Amino acid sequence: NERTFIMVKPDGVQRGVVGDVIHRFEQRGYKLVALKMLQAPRALLESHYEEHKGKKFYEILLAYIGSGPVVAMVWEGLNAVSVGRKMLGATDPAKSEPGTIRGDFGIVTGRNIVHGSDSETSAQREIALWFKPDEIS
Ligand code: ATP
Repeated sequence: NERTFIMVKPDGVQRGVVGDVIHRFEQRGYKLVALKMLQAPRALLESHYEEHKGKKFYEILLAYIGSGPVVAMVWEGLNAVSVGRKMLGATDPAKSEPGTIRGDFGIVTGRNIVHGSDSETSAQREIALWFKPDEIS
């Protein structure tokens, strides 16, 4: 069964949308198989965002995601990765359709509320980074 890594970023946690994000995935029919709240250490964020290393927003991005606790989750079900991305909306919330998480809660890319894996390969990589095997049911 396909799994995806979904994370509520610090702005989403501060604004109290964790419950809404969970509710949307439950309502859609996905199964929650892992969840934790943590202040992500720098090394974990460097690994998570290694594809962006060297880009001009890289340090801003790491400071943003490290600015407070995040809620990391693994959701399981049919096409979890691609449907999950649709549920999040476009990276730039200004371009996200209303009805998506970013389209309902965000306006700027630098504070875009949630993360979701963009492929099955990155989902597997990200799940292994954020969770130990025995933390996933
Ligand atoms: P995520 O990986 O968080 O789901 P994404 O895959 O939609 O987002 P990416 O292009 O991989 O988008 O960028 C990763 C994250 O980096 C974005 O979600 C956003 O928080 C941040 N980001 C991307 N581009 C910029 C930018 N130009 N300025 C500030 N932050 C940015």
